[in-house]
Amino acid sequence: MKNYKSYKFRIYPNKQQENQINKTYNYTRYIYNYYLEYQKQKGPQTIHQLCTNLKYLQQINPQLKQIDQHAITYTINSLIKSYKKYQNKQSLQPKYKNKNEKQTYTTYNIKNQNTIELDLINKRIKLPTLGLVKLKGYKKIAPGKIINATITKELTNKYYVSILTQTNIQYQKKVIPTTIVGIDLGIRKLITTSDGNYYSNQKSIKKYENKIKELQQKLSNQQPDSQNYNKTKQKIALLYSRIKNTRKHNAYNIVNDIVKNYDIIVSEKLKVKQMTHNNTISKYIMDARFSTICTLLKNKSQQYGKYYYQINTYYPSSQICSRCGNRNEKIKNLNNKIYICNKCGLEIDRDINASINIMFEGLKQHYKIKK
Ligand SMILES: [Zn+2]
Repeated sequence: MKNYKSYKFRIYPNKQQENQINKTYNYTRYIYNYYLEYQKQKGPQTIHQLCTNLKYLQQINPQLKQIDQHAITYTINSLIKSYKKYQNKQSLQPKYKNKNEKQTYTTYNIKNQNTIELDLINKRIKLPTLGLVKLKGYKKIAPGKIINATITKELTNKYYVSILTQTNIQYQKKVIPTTIVGIDLGIRKLITTSDGNYYSNQKSIKKYENKIKELQQKLSNQQPDSQNYNKTKQKIALLYSRIKNTRKHNAYNIVNDIVKNYDIIVSEKLKVKQMTHNNTISKYIMDARFSTICTLLKNKSQQYGKYYYQINTYYPSSQICSRCGNRNEKIKNLNNKIYICNKCGLEIDRDINASINIMFEGLKQHYKIKK
């Protein structure tokens, strides 16, 4: 299985390199906008057609030859992809790039040419047209080949490079299972396990969300498209990406912990049904988060020779008593935090009860016991 990972480093370009980076941003943006307009007039183009046209464009504007040519190819390729998506009605029409947006460009690593080389011992990276650039960040990264590098200049005038690497994962032999866990996914508590552990959302996310609310208030009082307005907008975008990263990191930690500690792991497919009272946006977000966790659980379990099962969404894990197996179909109100069995009298945390039921369902799947 191929695995992709990205690593972000802070880079410290010298004056000359800074100029070259800025030139590359400007020209890749120009090319993007130029060929977006071109396709709007002439219809969708192939990479071959645009590269032929590019040669003509470079004759008129020789400056275009002085920047990283792999960055130009990447720009044209990604424009063609997004234009095709738009043509197939899978996305909105691509927008023109604005110079007030975050400045970023991506360059490929060409096979056998090693156009991008990372040297963590001497803390520097070789990038096309820039040469060696000083960097700070990870001391060690997992071995793999570098696919591409994205150079970004933040509003704060700090420069970063994100490196995408590819590794081939070796699967471990399947273990003889001795431990099992059932997992209940929820909104309030992200994960409840059948042995009563919780994994929750990180507190820093709440902090970011509050800050976003504040900034959105500020934005509504600012003149649209003014410099301050754009600055606030970019700050909001930055906070959203922080939230995304924190969540991703949190999900990775949780999944690693679970896969390390248990041999058989069971979860539900998705828990959309709990969210009918929520608006569609948050439903969509929660769906995406749950499926990220499930995908991670699946991949990590496979990698470490563990077993992962997903049980049917319609399995009534919240109605069944985890002690006597009695099903109370009247339980529909998910606001009740305690499950009380009307047969054996068990009183138990609702989510723990559900996760125990999920565990037993998974065990049945593991031993292929059919009802
Ligand atoms: Zn009971």
